[in-house]
Amino acid sequence: MAPTTTAKKTTAKKTSSKKTTGAGIRDIDDRALNMPIEALGCRSYGHAWVRIPLATERVAQLVELGLVEIKKVCSNQCGSTWDQLFSADTGIRVENKRKTPKDYQVPAGTGRLPAAEARKAEWAHVYPEFFS
Ligand SMILES: [Zn+2]
Repeated sequence: MAPTTTAKKTTAKKTSSKKTTGAGIRDIDDRALNMPIEALGCRSYGHAWVRIPLATERVAQLVELGLVEIKKVCSNQCGSTWDQLFSADTGIRVENKRKTPKDYQVPAGTGRLPAAEARKAEWAHVYPEFFS
């Protein structure tokens, strides 16, 4: 019996016309050019959160209130922080605050910087000898 392939998927044929071999990365988003490399790395590949230990006194104060706090910073040193409060009784999160430094953001009103654009700018920082 013949297979029933009525709608054969077509994939875009890869052509060499889009290759940039030898030409470097082009058209880097202007909004990414002044961002620190740490911010570009995290915007490209995500943050590397590490938990910050709290002082015993702070833990005791919060537990008295029925809360547990988890504080994290990005170990990539992009300057981002993530603070969460949980109900000690239920374990349910009751507060969630993420903060990023000002230079992590694109200028207000200029839209969103796609991860792929951040990645290209990051590569230009990491490999300036190849991508200018
Ligand atoms: Zn980060």
